[in-house]
Amino acid sequence: MIKIIDINFLNEKAAIGCFLIKDNDDLVLIETGPSIYYDNIKNSLNKINIDINRIKNVLVTHIHLDHSGGAWKFAKNGANIYVHPKGSPHLISPERLMSSATKIYGDQMGRLWGSVEDISSEKVISVDHKQIIRIGSLEFKALHTPGHASHHIAWVFNDVVFTGDVAGAKIQNGPVLPACPPPDIDLEKWEDSLKILEKENPKKMYLTHFGEHKNIRSHIDELREALSDWSLWINEKRKIFLDDEILTKNFNEYVYKKMQAAKINDELINQYYAANPPYMSVAGLKRYWEKNDK
Ligand SMILES: [Zn+2]
Repeated sequence: MIKIIDINFLNEKAAIGCFLIKDNDDLVLIETGPSIYYDNIKNSLNKINIDINRIKNVLVTHIHLDHSGGAWKFAKNGANIYVHPKGSPHLISPERLMSSATKIYGDQMGRLWGSVEDISSEKVISVDHKQIIRIGSLEFKALHTPGHASHHIAWVFNDVVFTGDVAGAKIQNGPVLPACPPPDIDLEKWEDSLKILEKENPKKMYLTHFGEHKNIRSHIDELREALSDWSLWINEKRKIFLDDEILTKNFNEYVYKKMQAAKINDELINQYYAANPPYMSVAGLKRYWEKNDK
């Protein structure tokens, strides 16, 4: 059984999720959300008669705080945290991760994510590309899928994939949009990762932002188009709007107008902006182009 848990991030529905996989007594949680939403997960699990302390295995897609900021709380309960080898040092000592996140979120860090504590190294398990993880009767395969983040894993379970951020965000019947935060955005690697997903050919993808989606080919193509559209826009406009604030304001308007033109209602737009604020992508894509300016 796969249960989608909505953590109700910023009181928005379907902005950030995590997933419980259950087979009799075997339980695995994929993603944790930020630490301040731990009690929301606990309450969701209580409703299906599962004590959160029974979660002893947590798989995270990557170490961004909206995906694994709460992993330390599960580790304190004795859970193993499975993560990309490039992510594990930052779960064990999160100082650098926190200072890099503070550059993006400034004084909003506490309100958005809550606290982050060290995880003892024996609870952090690095997982290689294509490595199989067995937990009781449950079997998962890790796919290293960089592009959004260098430390990204998409987790294959039977014929579905938990895609973290590598398959973008799609909320309800809204558009597929990428999240492009600094510092790792790499469009070439991202394209390679999309090919890995296509090759896997899953029946469904489970997106952290948000939920279950089926039309894999069109979904991935739509993501390719949006990535190309956003990155070309940033590359062109960063040479015109030299001030970051003005560049960001214009990009926000660009994205907002496109969503309005696609007849997306304001409620859904707010869910997207909570899950994936476009200003983040300005900084990430600008950095990508500065590194790759030829
Ligand atoms: Zn992310």
